[in-house]
Amino acid sequence: MAQIQTPQPVRGTQSMLGEEADRFHAVVAAFDRVRRLFGFKRVEVPVLEPTAVFSRSLGETTDVVSNEMYTFEDRGGDSVTLRPEFTAGIARAYLSEGWQQYAPLKVATHGAAFRYERPQKGRFRQFHQLDAEIIGAGEPQADVEVLLFADQLLRELGLGKTVVLKLNTLGDPATRQAWRDALYEHFNARAADLSPDSRDRLERNPVRILDSKAHGDWPIVDSAPVIDDFLTSEAADFFAAVTAGLDAAGVRWERAPRLVRGLDYYRHTAFEFMTDTLGAQGTVVAGGRYDGLIEALGGPHTPAIGWAAGIERLAMMIDAPPPEQPEAVLVPLGEAAEKAATKLLAELRRDGIAADMAYRGNMKKRMQRAAASGAGHAVILGDAELEAGVAQVKDLATGEQRAVALELVNTAIRA
Ligand code: ATP
Ligand code: MG
Repeated sequence: MAQIQTPQPVRGTQSMLGEEADRFHAVVAAFDRVRRLFGFKRVEVPVLEPTAVFSRSLGETTDVVSNEMYTFEDRGGDSVTLRPEFTAGIARAYLSEGWQQYAPLKVATHGAAFRYERPQKGRFRQFHQLDAEIIGAGEPQADVEVLLFADQLLRELGLGKTVVLKLNTLGDPATRQAWRDALYEHFNARAADLSPDSRDRLERNPVRILDSKAHGDWPIVDSAPVIDDFLTSEAADFFAAVTAGLDAAGVRWERAPRLVRGLDYYRHTAFEFMTDTLGAQGTVVAGGRYDGLIEALGGPHTPAIGWAAGIERLAMMIDAPPPEQPEAVLVPLGEAAEKAATKLLAELRRDGIAADMAYRGNMKKRMQRAAASGAGHAVILGDAELEAGVAQVKDLATGEQRAVALELVNTAIRA
């Protein structure tokens, strides 16, 4: 008979168990705590969107749209795309679901995103993001609030010292246009020395050459004109208000005058929280103000700002969370005791005690498993105990054991 090959995972996807899964969920749990502290409402948006949601809002020339999207025709012939990020889908929902009535809307979500990239450390094809957005607020205080949210999340994860906030402004449209023209001139004069990728970006979007990952481009990028020379006074005032807010709240930041974001829709504030502990994949949180996006989707002019964070990248950096352990393991001896233990197990769990019981095994095996589980107590039930209406509660750390009335087992475990 032909051997059946067991299926392999899709390249760039992950399955997690144990510590890896615990790390992942520790990041999500911290995010949810901080989200609530900042008054961001939880939202859910689809994994699948019409392709136009991303191609229109992210910009046709971005890496994501031109090379990385999982786009396919569904059975009805519509072009759909697995979300490569959250912002565009949230903006789509803001328009199509009537969420405009709640503006300014502070929302947060997390989940899977998909990009067809070369998998490596900290880079996957299915990865997961935390996402926070404020839609319908053009005030610099909104920029400060999303940045403080990210900062507090990183502190909560114990990463306050390993991650730095790199901050830039991309100015208003007038600023950006003048800067773009100057960048074009600078890069065009050195086009022969640029990487093919950057030469490609020259005509379409010269600002994005600043984001080049080709080392050979870096000296040319370093000598490029900086935005400060082109800032309108309104744009400069806006940026000053953002940095003043950060300073007032005690958030450390560094100016990164060449920081631009991969997507085209950003204005004013752009930022990345970076670490040097993850090699090339050092950006853990990235975001900015995207006042042009909702218009690109056909909606009214709507200022907005937000960020996304890679859950896997954060999960790699945090201290391992303590493993989950039961508080008690039940050890029944014999059929009658097994029934009584099933009842006790249900009662303990209903009472909020993490309790476990093996499906089978003799006394010795069960006790070994109880010890290996890391539980604080074993609760032993035999015929003699049943008759007396008690269980032997054994402290697995000290080895001490005593008979406890069945209805008091919960208190004994908690003691
Ligand atoms: P990079 O420069 O690393 O490709 P990006 O600019 O494409 O990042 P964003 O679109 O800003 O990333 O996404 C926000 C965050 O999501 C990133 O800072 C990173 O933490 C995470 N991220 C992005 N792409 C991936 C991926 N393929 N695998 C894992 N995490 C990712
Ligand atoms: Mg990328």
